[in-house]
Amino acid sequence: MVRPQFSFMCGVCKRRIDVGSSHLVRMYMKEPSVGPALQSSLDTYYVETQCVPGEIHINIVVVDANGRYRGTKHSTIRSLSSVDEESIDSLRKMLRFGGSFSSILTMVLRGEPLVICGEEEACQYWSRALTRFFAIRTYETTEWFSLIEEVIRRFGTRADLRHGTMVLCDAGLINHALKVFPDTAVVELRRRTVHRGKDSVFAKNLVKMLNAIPASEGKAMVTLVNTQIDGLRTLLTDIVQQLRERISDTLIVGTAKMSEIELVEELMRKTLSPDLYASLGEHMKHEELFLLAPHIIRAVKPLADAVSATLERADKTRP
Ligand SMILES: [Zn+2]
Repeated sequence: MVRPQFSFMCGVCKRRIDVGSSHLVRMYMKEPSVGPALQSSLDTYYVETQCVPGEIHINIVVVDANGRYRGTKHSTIRSLSSVDEESIDSLRKMLRFGGSFSSILTMVLRGEPLVICGEEEACQYWSRALTRFFAIRTYETTEWFSLIEEVIRRFGTRADLRHGTMVLCDAGLINHALKVFPDTAVVELRRRTVHRGKDSVFAKNLVKMLNAIPASEGKAMVTLVNTQIDGLRTLLTDIVQQLRERISDTLIVGTAKMSEIELVEELMRKTLSPDLYASLGEHMKHEELFLLAPHIIRAVKPLADAVSATLERADKTRP
């Protein structure tokens, strides 16, 4: 891999960082984008620099195909003592799930309901680790069910799980679970399979980046995850606050045919301050918006009303 040469300003200390020329710079990956054609020429880099003695500054930057710096997604300081071995182990264990891990992440990042089937200890472990590292907002997790009768007593024979709900049940209940929760993603831990999962560019990239970090650099894995998720949370807080302040009912009119993302995107464009809207950056907006849209919709009441009205209309027109 050719090490690109570009420079940018550290988001933490505002010093100029020359990537490729300084030995103080460590870069963990070159991540080819897999998005639509417009985004395909942009690469994401995780850059660690020791700008100040004893302080590691992390910048996640986007670079175009010509090696030109295009923007910084997130910046943070890594405190050298705060990362424990247990967190590193958890991430490594989850990564061993394999190729479908990114679709589990996508579901958790979007706060979508999730059913996890496996041994009791494994289910508890996964729900703790997933929500600790990747949940943008809180999850409600059930106890572990070992009998289908218990599941049915709680949810009925056919249930539509709420946003932010995780159901844990025995590996042997997999076929029942698929029937009881017909619209929910179901993780089969034993077979490392995800049924009905959605995937995202963001989660795929995150998993690739994590896998690219050398085994000896466990702390960088934890920092990368924390930085990325903090970035999403900050973005969500900013967007929700601005939308709540500025949204007006007249903007909702005429959204009946729009998808969840189109609705949020259109309202953001019309409602947010030009500064904030621009700072979201055209090229990194869509993949992050895909993850944040369900949270945004639930946090902004006029939006939630518009979406449920749209769904009702869609139901009525269905043959
Ligand atoms: Zn710095």
